[in-house]
Amino acid sequence: MASTYIDPDGREITATTRTYQLGYASIQHTKIKFTGNMTDKTGTKSSADISALATRMEAQVESSFSGSDGNSTWTTDAVISTGNAPSNGEHEINIQPSSFFSAPGVLGNVDKIGGNQININDSISSLTPTSTNSNASFERTAAHEVGHAAGLRHGSGGLMEQTRNSNSLEINKSQIKDIVENN
Ligand SMILES: [Zn+2]
Repeated sequence: MASTYIDPDGREITATTRTYQLGYASIQHTKIKFTGNMTDKTGTKSSADISALATRMEAQVESSFSGSDGNSTWTTDAVISTGNAPSNGEHEINIQPSSFFSAPGVLGNVDKIGGNQININDSISSLTPTSTNSNASFERTAAHEVGHAAGLRHGSGGLMEQTRNSNSLEINKSQIKDIVENN
């Protein structure tokens, strides 16, 4: 039995859940696909810099949005191009200067919950999840904002907690269910 949910307004997230039997167990597997195009809005980055950030974001989104809990498993494929205008409602991922954000310390945002524009503060581009003395990283913010673009809000745990409250990089089973219902 399979059901497919296609994002109705071109947000370019699809989530498909398939149920199959493994012996007596009923296994539910969800496949998520996320696509976007990344652009430099700081005016300071080379195309190689942006490609490197896109590669890091793809890897983290695939890692953060893959997991298992009991008889549920989920995997994600992320494809982030660079150097093009976003097309067909594809997610627009902007690497922004700090001055873009309305308040100091904002690491990233989306145009709206479930929206298709993701902004990431370039001030964290050099921070990886293994950096010391900080929960903030490009990887966590990039994946967190993808969660917002997929319709998730704060307060549901893990990756969707704000960075000052958590350094978790993972989303959970109920959030996967929400993504399937939202997209
Ligand atoms: Zn947030």
